[in-house]
Amino acid sequence: MSEATYKDWHRTLRRFKLSAEHYPCGWCGDSAARWVYLHNRPDIERGAGQFVYAEDTSAYAPLCNRCAGTFRAARTRLSRDELAKAVPALALAAHEGISDYTRAEVIAETARRRETAPGFNSVETAKPFADAVRATDALLRQAYGA
Ligand SMILES: [Zn+2]
Repeated sequence: MSEATYKDWHRTLRRFKLSAEHYPCGWCGDSAARWVYLHNRPDIERGAGQFVYAEDTSAYAPLCNRCAGTFRAARTRLSRDELAKAVPALALAAHEGISDYTRAEVIAETARRRETAPGFNSVETAKPFADAVRATDALLRQAYGA
């Protein structure tokens, strides 16, 4: 796998979820800067070294540069199992470093950015998701007779 396929995948990721700047950091709640692969899908992992990726949008978190650096350092130091166990404590420590006030501001600001992002509520993204939710809901209601 090449750097090109890694970059292609990240372009696809941004097309479906926008760039990470449209979200709060998944760990601390400050403004996110990049999508970070959490190294939690070895079954579909591709690439090598710094260009490892997995073609599953849910395997990525929007992280700020500080938290991305913390994650990268932990990933370099720990085995995959150790990393999975270490992440909750690292995320909690990062969370405690940011005030509730800042987090609330970032939540509001990033929500505005998503709402105004061109094409984000396009047929490609929002509509199929909403249709899937409605279809699932209908099936559940049918199954449980509600
Ligand atoms: Zn962060």
